[in-house]
Amino acid sequence: MIPIRRYLRGSGRVLAFVFVASIVWLLLDIAALRLSIDDVNSKLLKEKVIRERELLKQQSRVPLGPNPDPDPLRGGQKQDLPAVGPQSHSELHPNEVLSEHKQGSASLNVPVMKQGERSLDPNGGRGDGSKAERGSNEAMLNEVLSNIAKVPPGVQERTDAPPPASTSTKGHVHGGAEKTAANGEVQSRERELYAEETSVLRATKGRPAPETDLRAGGGPSGVHRVSSLDVTLSPRDAKAVGQFGQAAQVGSDEDAEVKRRWNEGHFNVFLSDKIPVDRAVPDTRPETCAQDLVHDGLPTTSVVFCFVDEVWSTLLRSVHSVLNRSPPHLLREIILVDDFSTKDYLREPLDAYMSQFPKVQIIRLKERQGLIRARLAGAAAAKGEVLTFLDSHVECNVGWLEPLLERIYRDRKKVPCPVIEVISDKDMSYMLVDNFQRGIFKWPLVFGWSPLPEEYIRKHNISISDPIRCPIMAGGLFAIDRQYFYELGAYDPGLDVWGGENMEISFKIWMCGGEIEILPCSRVGHIFRGQNPYSFPKDRQKTVERNLARVAEVWLDEYKVLFYGHGYQHLLDKNVIDIGNLTEQIELRKRLQCKNFKWYLENVYPDMDAPLVKAEGLIFNVGLRKCLTLWRNFLILDVCNLSKQTQLFNYTWMKQIRQKDICVAPQGKDNSLTLQPCNNANTELRWFHKSSNAALEDHLMSEFLPYMCLEAKPRDDTLQLAACTPEHVFQKWRFTRYLAQ
Ligand code: UDP
Ligand code: MN
Repeated sequence: MIPIRRYLRGSGRVLAFVFVASIVWLLLDIAALRLSIDDVNSKLLKEKVIRERELLKQQSRVPLGPNPDPDPLRGGQKQDLPAVGPQSHSELHPNEVLSEHKQGSASLNVPVMKQGERSLDPNGGRGDGSKAERGSNEAMLNEVLSNIAKVPPGVQERTDAPPPASTSTKGHVHGGAEKTAANGEVQSRERELYAEETSVLRATKGRPAPETDLRAGGGPSGVHRVSSLDVTLSPRDAKAVGQFGQAAQVGSDEDAEVKRRWNEGHFNVFLSDKIPVDRAVPDTRPETCAQDLVHDGLPTTSVVFCFVDEVWSTLLRSVHSVLNRSPPHLLREIILVDDFSTKDYLREPLDAYMSQFPKVQIIRLKERQGLIRARLAGAAAAKGEVLTFLDSHVECNVGWLEPLLERIYRDRKKVPCPVIEVISDKDMSYMLVDNFQRGIFKWPLVFGWSPLPEEYIRKHNISISDPIRCPIMAGGLFAIDRQYFYELGAYDPGLDVWGGENMEISFKIWMCGGEIEILPCSRVGHIFRGQNPYSFPKDRQKTVERNLARVAEVWLDEYKVLFYGHGYQHLLDKNVIDIGNLTEQIELRKRLQCKNFKWYLENVYPDMDAPLVKAEGLIFNVGLRKCLTLWRNFLILDVCNLSKQTQLFNYTWMKQIRQKDICVAPQGKDNSLTLQPCNNANTELRWFHKSSNAALEDHLMSEFLPYMCLEAKPRDDTLQLAACTPEHVFQKWRFTRYLAQ
């Protein structure tokens, strides 16, 4: 002992201390290294799986050339995954969309990768209820019954973990009506604080924030790093079919079975049933998302899934993905609304299965209501502060929920949507989609995706993880403050079955003071189907058209002619369609003092081209070189003069030749013309011009009296109707300005 003590005197003591400290340091380092190796290992495994899956897919897509780049370990970042380009159907008329869908689902070998497309196929996808179908249903039911009354062995159910405790002494109160002036102040101070913290975090992008401040468990300011919660990260069977979101292969001998079961859901139901209901999926968030801060006191949510005849395995996978990847203290409940399904397995077996999860409740509708009224029924039962609507064939990804709730916490009028990723309907693989995509519409109110303009991204310095302003939500997946949802009048309950509800709620949110955003840090996979696998109580096309007409009448103001003018003119005929009573919706818009549609176009969707007429100015006759003139109660031809009001006409979306409220019409009897008060529903007032008939594109051909064209009479500068002749220059007319095709 004595010699050792000697060493511990004077400078020896310092040396000894340094020696011991180095050993401790070394041990800590080794421990940290081991932890990070574990981390890296699991990440590498996931990435390897993702890459292999992508390679497989590319091999099946692209014929291998001489240099197919076989190195799966190149790159290695999540962003290097080939992204799926969403296909916008925005340019298409519903009928064109329709035929494309048919092609898409006809061949099982063609990978169709689309995002957010809403099918408009009027054929629906319903089985015919034939004997064969009933037989197969029974077989399936028996199979299902033998398996489902219990959680599949090893399914990892979350046990309720405590919420992240905040060291903050400030209370977080959420929701407009609950806010007092005092806590409103607290909140706004916290928001400022949060903004500062976030900007600090952004400034140190790429570098992990100091662990001590930001751990779940709370920092001094009541925020924590977003919980990367995923109990499926180390799944019970890493080799299971479709595990980690991989493409699952089907043996060629099983093709017939795949085809046989396709119509149950209009996707590969056979394969879906083989994939674990709690499979892991790749964490596809942009790199920085996992570092983001969210508040400790986020509002709770009720997740509402409504479904009709959903496939068993996809319904379960949807529910498990929410249970497994949502912080339990934020998930108030999951409400399954059964919209009068016809499948037996969705009755007692579903009750039995879900009874194992106290947070899941099932509401059964007594008759088929359609998705809009089914969601309303779910919302009415919800107790969470936020409603989160999801389709019943989704998989929520890691960290999906907190970013949505955080957005609402910071501003209750924000309506956040996750990025909707694609679960392949063919091989059930989970696919990344392009960045910067937002939901838009094209005429006649057709939903589509379009990237943010490059210039906008540059100007506003937008990164791939920043929220994206979204003119129209896709409809299936979004979160909204429950009280705000009702302040907005919820959905128009007059909308039937499916379709148009995403337009309605989007216009309503934007025009009445809210905002819709897509949050790249929140991601949910969704199976896009080529057809609706359920029946429409009435004709499908008519149902969707009627819904859209309701939306147009309530929200589009003077722009509604663009909707009707793009193929829906027949809806103006009240004998063709009864769109129901709109009084309440119109009242609601007034009560909420919503802005007009022009404001929406200018401020929310400025890149949308929406001219109110198709052409305007003088109408010049090519043969006579004179212009159409309204003189007293007659139409004549006169020397062209742009400053003459009597020569200024519009060619409208209703195909009218119109000056103020006066429209040109064929007389019928003696090939002369007449003037009538304009009326959009009056088919006699419609003239084809620049139509698809190339030989007659400069002509003004009556839609009411086919092949009768407007013709200038050179003898007395008057007009008449005459049989259309392609080369006849006195039948050719030009407007000063054409604003639309
Ligand atoms: N749905 C419903 N009742 C209906 C039609 C649809 O409950 O009458 C459900 C459907 O099961 C799904 C959601 O509403 O969970 C959205 O429908 P779908 O997935 O067909 O719409 P898409 O994704 O094609 O827009
Ligand atoms: Mn869907």
